[in-house]
Amino acid sequence: MKKDIEIAQEATMKPIEDITNQLDLDYEDWEPYGRYKAKLSESLLHKLSDRKDGKVVLVTAINPTPAGEGKSTVTVGLGQAMNQLNKRTVIALREPSLGPTMGLKGGAAGGGYSQVLPMEDINLHFTGDIHAITSANNALSAFIDNHIHRGNELNIDPRKIGWKRVLDLNDRALREVVVGLGGPLKGVPREDGFNISVASEIMAILCLASDLEDLKNRLARIVFGYTYEDKPVTVQQLGMEGALTLLLKEAIKPNLVQTIENTPAIVHGGPFANIAHGCNSVMATTIASKLGEYVITEAGFGADLGAEKFLNIKTRAGDFTPDAVVIVATVRALKMHGGVPKEGLGEENVNALQEGMSNLKKHMETIESFGLPFVVAINRFPTDTEEELNFVEKWCEEQNVRVALTEVHAKGGTGGLDLARAVMDTVDKEARSFTYTYELEDPIDEKVRKIARTVYGAKDVEFSNQAKKQMKLYDQLGWGNLPICMAKTQYSLSDDPALLGRPSDFTITIREFSPSIGAGFIVALTGDVMTMPGLPKEPAALKMDVDASGKAKGLF
Ligand code: ADP
Repeated sequence: MKKDIEIAQEATMKPIEDITNQLDLDYEDWEPYGRYKAKLSESLLHKLSDRKDGKVVLVTAINPTPAGEGKSTVTVGLGQAMNQLNKRTVIALREPSLGPTMGLKGGAAGGGYSQVLPMEDINLHFTGDIHAITSANNALSAFIDNHIHRGNELNIDPRKIGWKRVLDLNDRALREVVVGLGGPLKGVPREDGFNISVASEIMAILCLASDLEDLKNRLARIVFGYTYEDKPVTVQQLGMEGALTLLLKEAIKPNLVQTIENTPAIVHGGPFANIAHGCNSVMATTIASKLGEYVITEAGFGADLGAEKFLNIKTRAGDFTPDAVVIVATVRALKMHGGVPKEGLGEENVNALQEGMSNLKKHMETIESFGLPFVVAINRFPTDTEEELNFVEKWCEEQNVRVALTEVHAKGGTGGLDLARAVMDTVDKEARSFTYTYELEDPIDEKVRKIARTVYGAKDVEFSNQAKKQMKLYDQLGWGNLPICMAKTQYSLSDDPALLGRPSDFTITIREFSPSIGAGFIVALTGDVMTMPGLPKEPAALKMDVDASGKAKGLF
């Protein structure tokens, strides 16, 4: 089997102006970033505001195995298939972070014959948006430390600064650091730490902002710490929102690229779904829905994380709700949920598969709880046997659920035609009555409980003493009505990564909360989920290389 990068490098890309022409964009609507990438103008949204919205299809999945189960691949493949059926379709994806690219995954631009191109650029520095976010985040850190060094007029308590520095790499050694060492000329020593850039509140802000003005207002509202009297301190008090917005003025423009089959794709913003809200930008999805009859977009990890936050957070910031959902499942992951260890996933095991269906069942119920219709996409892997595939199809049919065997990795759009037809049929025929999991007016603990019970299937939620104190404080500060962004392991419905399948009778523990007032949500941290990942024993980067002509190798 050819590697993703080989397939990508053999594909023929069209010049990006062919793609903008396909979308009927005018000269002032976009600017080229090299031959195959473009930035869409921020003004495009205003220009298209009266245009009818296309149908939004959200791609989510069951709880993944460590390799990822092919949501991006199915998203790209489904978009290609819709285009083959002459439906004007725009794909909206997240931008990969260098952390997982160099660490575990090796690439996140789809796979096989369903990829976005140029995959090397998209997986590496792309159009520099994540670097701009890193710079803006760290500029704020530098200004906070400078403010304290220069006399601390705002009376900031250095022990209560929640704002961390960021880096777009997995680097566990930086999780906790002390800055300002070296004497009075080097600053005031304080404990700090690093998050991965995609966990920065600025990434979330960029993804939820509706335009440049909204971006600035959100940046101004960021609460980065507290005074000695426990009063929140904002970016506005430091007077930095203008400079931060300036650093992000290009990053806020959505990036247009194409797939292997030249289907338009907007790749913009990339928060992780386990430690952040997990969706591409509101601007990208909105523009895609104005330009296409259909938008195919994804949210990270399983439906317990990305889809929950897409539906409870992103749809509240944007002006859209999905018309249909695709739940991606693989035989491999279902067998893992049925108890098969990673090394045994290549062998036929219908009993384990049967056992593992409980995980898919839970995610189906979750999407139903939002009042949305869905299709199950079985993302076919070369190791799947006919018997296993038949079993999953039959199981879905018995549940009266639309299912489509999807071979977009091996065949591109052609392998997704059944899925595309099933999705269109669902959009046309199925009723939907979209409902949030919680109301914004619910108390914070009630919102968390509703997510834990409805979406994870938990028995109850336990709050640490610190979390309890924080809830009280947030209410006093008027933050009680914000939505909740859960930070939880992606591997399990619970907060224990080892509990696969459909665990029951479990309790979710909220260790602490963290306010993202600029983004407009409260982060609830469960278990010991890390906002700066570490590298595995054999990082994917060990396989990467570049030849003398500049051609990349090993990005999977
Ligand atoms: P996710 O979006 O769920 O994290 P991706 O779409 O990024 O997953 O896919 C993860 C990896 O799995 C990629 O390297 C991709 O090429 C590979 N992959 C996805 N689907 C298939 C498939 N059907 N057969 C073989 N490999 C696949």
